[in-house]
Amino acid sequence: MEQYFSDDYKFGTAKLVSQKGKYFLHIPVTTEVPESELSDICNVVGIDRGINFVIATYDSKHKSGFVSGKAIKQKRANYKKVRQQLQQRKTKSARKRLKKIGQRENRWMQDINHCITKALTEQNPKHTLFVLEDLTGIRQATEKIRLKDRYVSVSWAFYDLEQKLIYKAKKHQCSVIKVNPAYTSQACPVCGHTERANRNKKIHLFCCRNCSYQSNDDRIGAMNLYRMGIDYLVPDTVTAE
Ligand SMILES: [Zn+2]
Repeated sequence: MEQYFSDDYKFGTAKLVSQKGKYFLHIPVTTEVPESELSDICNVVGIDRGINFVIATYDSKHKSGFVSGKAIKQKRANYKKVRQQLQQRKTKSARKRLKKIGQRENRWMQDINHCITKALTEQNPKHTLFVLEDLTGIRQATEKIRLKDRYVSVSWAFYDLEQKLIYKAKKHQCSVIKVNPAYTSQACPVCGHTERANRNKKIHLFCCRNCSYQSNDDRIGAMNLYRMGIDYLVPDTVTAE
């Protein structure tokens, strides 16, 4: 709490919340953050959102990062099963229980997004530019996901991650941009050659038909987003590894 007792923070109205016999005091604080200039950017991080990996990243040190989505996928599927069972019972208590479970699932997902975005902003230096795919519209978000995974609705979780990242980035004097997601998984990050056949989804391998560059296919999206971030900073420049 200590950092909040300086003149930089103004306290709002506190709220006492009771949850399962425990009491929590929520105190809102307000602070001014200096605006970050584009010319200050010293690090670029491409962030690809997905299902197998909640996020895959690629940054200015040419380092990749992955957060596995396996456990999350499983838990969401479990939640869905319970929800379906409750939906079949058309009683009042089942409806009540359904609502509770929905709220719990949302809180759980929000907490995951909170942890991921916290790590992203704290593990990267000030004046980092984060590059996300612009997934406006549910259709695009669901298209990204393979058919058999489509039962998982991810658009809400993606949007939540984005909102949390924008908010935390601002606090750390970092910036977030959203770019056109077209071809981010088909384009070669080294030579730029774009072809659907570059990617073999089955074995998760990307292999460029032009320059033979090979990598894990989930990493390619992040690499291309990183490259688009560099292009955004230095327009009209061709970047290569
Ligand atoms: Zn290539």
